[in-house]
Amino acid sequence: MHEYSLVQALITRVEAEARRRGALKVHGLSVRMGELAGVDPELFQTAYDTFRAGTVCAEVPLTLKQVAASWSCPTCRAAIPRGAALRCQACGEPARLDEGGDALTLDGIDLEVP
Ligand SMILES: [Zn+2]
Repeated sequence: MHEYSLVQALITRVEAEARRRGALKVHGLSVRMGELAGVDPELFQTAYDTFRAGTVCAEVPLTLKQVAASWSCPTCRAAIPRGAALRCQACGEPARLDEGGDALTLDGIDLEVP
């Protein structure tokens, strides 16, 4: 499943980061997921709960932040209202998805570093 491989990659990344910074412990983890990332937050949480056992994330709570997709005009930068046609009303340019709308990103790791 999509969510499972994303979670595995996430945990691998957290472990690498904790090792690189010589962390004693990881206290928290936050992930931003875009509305169009195609990730089901509940499945993602379930996958996380499944995979974190025995890893550096075993006791670490996961915070998921959902980011709404937003669109704007690449030419005049006008924002395209939610639910409107994905085309700029001023210049007719096709709308462009703003950053974050389709991404899954590691937003922050709370590490205890000596
Ligand atoms: Zn425009």
